[in-house]
Amino acid sequence: MAKILLNKKNLFHNLNLILKQTKSKEKVAIVLKDNAYGHGLLEIAKLAKEFGIKKAVVRTCEEARKINNYFDYILILADTNLSTYSHTFHIAVNSLEQIKQLPKNTQVHLKVDSGMHRNGINKDKLKEAIHGLYKQNLKFTGLFTHYRCADELATDFYWQRSNFRQIKEEVKNICEQLSIPLPKFHSANSSALFRINNFDEDFARVGIASYGYLETDNIFNNPDLKPVMSLWGQKIATREIKKGQRVGYGGGYIAKKDMTISTYDVGYGDGFFRLNEKHKYITPKGYEILGRVSMDNLSVNCNDENICIFNDARQLAKIHDTITYEITTKLNPTIKKEIIQ
Ligand SMILES: *Cc1c(COP(=O)(O)O)cnc(C)c1O
Repeated sequence: MAKILLNKKNLFHNLNLILKQTKSKEKVAIVLKDNAYGHGLLEIAKLAKEFGIKKAVVRTCEEARKINNYFDYILILADTNLSTYSHTFHIAVNSLEQIKQLPKNTQVHLKVDSGMHRNGINKDKLKEAIHGLYKQNLKFTGLFTHYRCADELATDFYWQRSNFRQIKEEVKNICEQLSIPLPKFHSANSSALFRINNFDEDFARVGIASYGYLETDNIFNNPDLKPVMSLWGQKIATREIKKGQRVGYGGGYIAKKDMTISTYDVGYGDGFFRLNEKHKYITPKGYEILGRVSMDNLSVNCNDENICIFNDARQLAKIHDTITYEITTKLNPTIKKEIIQ
């Protein structure tokens, strides 16, 4: 059966590099949304807890419920429909309308638009939002924003940071006027965290760097992160083919000599994007994926019992003109996970 191996040593290595930036485990919130970017929600939650991480970020209440035993503090990014609620949950709110729908005592992180113009409350509406929380007996536990250009060398990043700094000051004033405790302030994702020299916020929301990647421009002094995931296929069958014979749909691969080839149980149905004859893809051990990838299998010029299909998503991200996030996140959640030490 196909499987995903999770390298615990590499995960801990990455978390240690992240710690160097935040200076404390309390200031790391590991982002586990979308099945921990394809790595397995429960597996990564368990390992992060073992490392000593106390905070997590997810997309839905359902995800939060599943990992509730592993963390003290869970930020839910995109779900205000609270079927279950726990004292560890903090709900991200993007609009004044959402505030009205929340039950009393819910802990709320307000997301503010500091310049990305995707989600978040307009900064002119913040006062109204905070007063709304207060009137409705909701707990204002966090204020956060997200950068549009943390991974590119652009002045936008500094502009947004300075906007957020200004917003923080305004929010502090509003809280003082209402005599309510200050919320936690946070803005950094992985690339922002590694760009900031003296990190001084309450925590960073770190996803991709935990898993061993950063999409940041090479111009930055990028840390030596190590990919956590590798995808493995198991052999289905082996055959001998003659020079000139073609392999797979469309006969996309033509044998240049007599050769031994095997099929393995991974395909685009498993979320391994379809490769075709236009892309040459070589596995870490130097084998070639031959012709087109099928829905549930692919052909390779070897006869090993199990092969590592990839252990670094960057080569595939390049071939498919996408980012490492998409390569790992698209893998089918049902693929079996195994933790290796
Ligand atoms: C996904 C997400 C993150 C994590 O980003 P990385 O680049 O993977 O570190 C942080 N904050 C928000 C709001 C997100 O949606």
